[in-house]
Formats: sequence, C-alpha cells, structure tokens
Amino acid sequence: MTLADPRLLILGAHPDDAEFHAGGLATLYRSLGYPVKLISVTDGGAGHHQRSRTTLVKTRRDEAAASGEIIGAPYVTWDFPDGHLVNSLELRDRIIQEIRTYQPDLVLTHRVCDYHPDHRAVGQAVQDASYLVTVPLVVPEVAHLSTDPVVAYMADLFTRPYPLQPDVILDIEPLLPKIIEMLACHQSQVFEFLPYNMGRRVQVPDNEEEKIAWLTDWFTSHIEPRSDHFRNALVDQYGPARGAAMRWVEVFEISEYASALDTEARQRLFPIPSG
Ligand SMILES: [Zn+2]
Repeated sequence: MTLADPRLLILGAHPDDAEFHAGGLATLYRSLGYPVKLISVTDGGAGHHQRSRTTLVKTRRDEAAASGEIIGAPYVTWDFPDGHLVNSLELRDRIIQEIRTYQPDLVLTHRVCDYHPDHRAVGQAVQDASYLVTVPLVVPEVAHLSTDPVVAYMADLFTRPYPLQPDVILDIEPLLPKIIEMLACHQSQVFEFLPYNMGRRVQVPDNEEEKIAWLTDWFTSHIEPRSDHFRNALVDQYGPARGAAMRWVEVFEISEYASALDTEARQRLFPIPSG
C-alpha cells in the first residue's frame, strides 16, 4: 500500500510563531509537494506600540497570509485575542474540529512550559485535544478520527520542569532564505514591534535589501543558542563533525499523548535529507 503524502498542521499562538519555530520543516514539506496549513490561534492584535488593535489585527492577518503564499500554504489567523488566550473548552473544541477536518499526519505546537501564556494555552489545548479527536461524542458535528496524528512540540530552551527532548532535529541552514522571506512578510512584527520591544529600533535600516540582511542577522543570532543547547543530540544524530558545526536547527519533541513516532512514521513525517 502506498501512503498518501503526509499533511502538516502548525498551531502557533501568534502570526509568525510557525515560521520562527518550524519554518524549515514547513518549507521542506512544500518543496516535496506535501500539504501544509499554518494557523495562528490568536489574532495577533496585542503586539504593537503605535497601531490600534483593530488595524493591527487586519494587518497581521494579511501579513500571515502573504507569508503562507511564499511556500504555497494557507496561513489562517483565528480570532482569539492576542495576549488573553486561555485553554478554554471553546479553544479545545475548535482545535478538535480543525484536526478532524484537515486530518494532518503531524501537528506542531508549543510546549506547556514556555514563557508566553498564549503559547502555553495553545500547547495545553492541543495536548488535551490529542486523544479527544478520536472520541465520537466530543464535538459530534464533525466526524471523529480513528487514530490520533503525531503531535510534536516546537523547540524552546526552557528547562523547568524539564528541557525539551530533542527527538527530531532538522538542519535549516539550506532553508534559511525561504524562512527569512516568510518572516519578512510580518513587517509590523519583525521590522516594527520586535525591534521596539527589544530596544533595538534604531538598528532597522530603511533600505529593503539591508532590511532583509538585518532580519537574517537578527533571526540567525536569535536561534543560534538552540544548536548549542542541543549540541549533544546534534552530534548523536549527525556525527561529530557535522553535529559540531551545525549552527541553525529546528528541534522537535514528540508528544507522548498522541500517536507514537515509529521508524516508518519518522521517515515519512520528517523527510530530512541525510547529506
Ligand atoms: Zn508567539
């Protein structure tokens, strides 16, 4: 039996979380022709120092859609309020409905130990939905699934109560230009709010080409600590020479509350080039 192409669903809390944490895997999937859907659970309407909430929500929705278009994937922004997300029954049921409808083989989300309350809420809601997608009388208006998808957590560097387990590692260096192209679509965030929020506003150049170089520099230096944090796992997976040299990676932990990742599923869901 030939299995259909694997389907990837990323449930991030904010517009741009998907790219920040898993833009490489999403790009890899699309380069192989596999279906990908990106979702921002919140409306993105909190993170700005100059725009009003109403205009920001529309801007961030358009920016996310443009980012998805870069890789030919739908990028949908839900209406839950940015900065005020809680793990409600409404959120859980919406996620159950989404997973049942889109029928992903792999779902990526945040861990429940994370600095941002919205990230924690999404992570918890996905964790809670993982089993319930197979239970017929929960959200009975949408047909239940016979098996859970594989659920994986996107990388963070937090250590309490325990550090992320690096079950899967992807070297994203060759994929960086596409990730940057996606991130650059989130203009109001990466060129406006984040520099302001980090106190680096003055460093963003006006020129478009220089802006991209600035974003590349900022993003790569921002994620570089990931490779050191997981260095032992990189060396285990890729060998001492390549593992020691890798600078930009995506790392995923497989949730134990959904389907397991056996060898066959690993090859299918994480089609990582070996070279
Ligand atoms: Zn976020």
